[in-house]
Amino acid sequence: GVTTAYALTERGHAVTVLDRHRYPAMETSFANGGQLSASNSEVWNSSATILKGLQWMFRKDAPLLMRLTPSWHKYSWIGEFVW
Ligand SMILES: Cc1cc2nc3c(=O)[nH]c(=O)nc-3n(C[C@H](O)[C@H](O)[C@H](O)COP(=O)(O)OP(=O)(O)OC[C@H]3O[C@@H](n4cnc5c(N)ncnc54)[C@H](O)[C@@H]3O)c2cc1C
Repeated sequence: GVTTAYALTERGHAVTVLDRHRYPAMETSFANGGQLSASNSEVWNSSATILKGLQWMFRKDAPLLMRLTPSWHKYSWIGEFVW
């Protein structure tokens, strides 16, 4: 809704967004993972995603890139995700 409103505003329309909550972005957008994925819109809970993710690590134009820098939080998260 907000994206559509933005696009319409860019085209010169006067737009009013009505949301059922008091503030916008209080549903799905409220507590997402904060990951910026510009061109990855796949469902993650598939074993094929793990294989793709590994292959993407060696591509400059990967749709999703995970940096290999050491981080306990990152690797424990990956472990839980794979499990
Ligand atoms: C657990 C989780 C983690 C995620 N992590 C990521 C991530 O790391 N990176 C990423 O890019 N994406 C992530 N996503 C996906 C992303 O958060 C969603 O695709 C995105 O928030 C959807 O935005 P939206 O504007 O379409 O929906 P919403 O944010 O749900 O907005 C819909 C709006 O419509 C309003 N609305 C609904 N019905 C009515 C009605 N009848 N009348 C008036 N208003 C109404 C709602 O109140 C709400 O404000 C995640 C999703 C989940 C669930």
